[in-house]
Amino acid sequence: MTSVDVAGIPVDTRHYIGGERIASASTFTNTSPIDSSFLGEIARGGAVEVDLAVEAARRAFPIWAATPPAERAATLIRIADLVDENIEALANVETMDNGALLRSHLRGVMPRVAHNFRFFADWLVNHLGHPDFETRGHVNHVSWDPSGVAGLITPWNAPLMLSTWKIAPALAAGDTVVLKPAEWTPLTASLFADLTKRAGLPDGAFNVVQGIGREAGAALVAHPGLSRISFTGSVPTAKTIARAAADNLTPCSFELGGKSPFIVLADADLELAASLAVEQYDNAGQVCLSGTRILVHESIEAEFTEAFRRKAGELRQGDPRDPETDIGPQVHATHFDRVKGFVDRARAEGADIAMGGRPNAELGGLYFQPTLVHDPAPGSEIVTAEIFGPVLTMQTFATDEQALDLANGTEFGLAAVVVSGDRQHAESISSRLVAGTIWVNCFFVRDLRAPFGGSRKSGVGREGGTWSFDFYADVKNTVVAPHGWKE
Ligand code: ADP
Repeated sequence: MTSVDVAGIPVDTRHYIGGERIASASTFTNTSPIDSSFLGEIARGGAVEVDLAVEAARRAFPIWAATPPAERAATLIRIADLVDENIEALANVETMDNGALLRSHLRGVMPRVAHNFRFFADWLVNHLGHPDFETRGHVNHVSWDPSGVAGLITPWNAPLMLSTWKIAPALAAGDTVVLKPAEWTPLTASLFADLTKRAGLPDGAFNVVQGIGREAGAALVAHPGLSRISFTGSVPTAKTIARAAADNLTPCSFELGGKSPFIVLADADLELAASLAVEQYDNAGQVCLSGTRILVHESIEAEFTEAFRRKAGELRQGDPRDPETDIGPQVHATHFDRVKGFVDRARAEGADIAMGGRPNAELGGLYFQPTLVHDPAPGSEIVTAEIFGPVLTMQTFATDEQALDLANGTEFGLAAVVVSGDRQHAESISSRLVAGTIWVNCFFVRDLRAPFGGSRKSGVGREGGTWSFDFYADVKNTVVAPHGWKE
């Protein structure tokens, strides 16, 4: 079987290598988290397929790298246009595959995929550059040269969006790409491969090897033919990848986990604070950026909790294809068990589970209730480990110093949310937080010009705008002397 029907859309289950579809002798089973239904048997790649894909990407590299930037940009824009034309198909397949809300895929996520390509095309043509500067009459000229083959390893929580957040700048920079999508969500990468072909991207410039992390993923990151590795996923996997990359000294960019604080200051607008807090359940909590640790000033705890409970009580859990649904299932049974395990252990240790805390009995399957753990024991697992499910904790503080100690007191540093009615107060807190992104009185506003990434164990490097080009390109400085010229 080389193609499966998902939500009425045919999806090729093979790899995409050198512009061709290639099967593997073995496969892995893909199911939908919505109802555990069978979606298809997917090609299970390993070292052989990775070799083929890296070889194809290496062959395509001189062609794509020599393509003038304006032409590269035009191809990226054609990809964006095709994504726009296929939003319905991409959104429906992604929802079947990872269980995230169809309405979000249609309105936000898939349009964002197209935007990723338009943005990096525009940056390549209109913004990439650095003014020349002089050193004792010598001119320094900085340029961004294509570096080679980028190996991309991506997660399942926003499969196509997060992949294209890497694919678009890598291609814009003139690199060619081998993508290994997450095995729980392999489908939209395959649909996307078809679009790159239709957009006229040269064969081999973009390749997809499907497979399991420790097989295809491990073979890819250990491959000596890569010039870059970009990975979004968990801290333990990043460590494994870093070890593999070390043998070839392949530069890595890592976007990893978080346990971000959500700080409600005493002067906050509590309705706003509660609305933003409830948004931390988005994507059933499967968002690395989520502000999962609510830290609220003790003087407003009761009032805030009341507003939070009211708004959380309005959330509807159910089938992610239903436009009325706010919270869908967890992505996979293994992940569901992981999330449930965290909450079960917290309960066994005597934690106060103030809301939810159990599988949704009415829905069954992989639906876990939105959960709030009140006043967790300091240092306990529930308040230090990344859960990646609809599980928030709430703690109180009396002073700014206490809030900052709690906020900064983890091994992570990805994001933070501050809710305050006082600009100076918010500024004083934000300036002392350790986080790559801080949202003040808002959440999830993202501009691709901004740097994106994490401090501490939340990541290595930054993506976005010039930071992405700095990573995917070989940045070069040419120094031209004023002397030695024959004219
Ligand atoms: P999670 O545990 O939440 O699934 P991972 O970080 O393990 O997160 O997975 C993210 C991506 O990393 C997936 O595409 C997965 O296949 C890949 N992956 C897992 N293990 C490895 C590995 N050893 N080498 C390369 N990629 C891997």
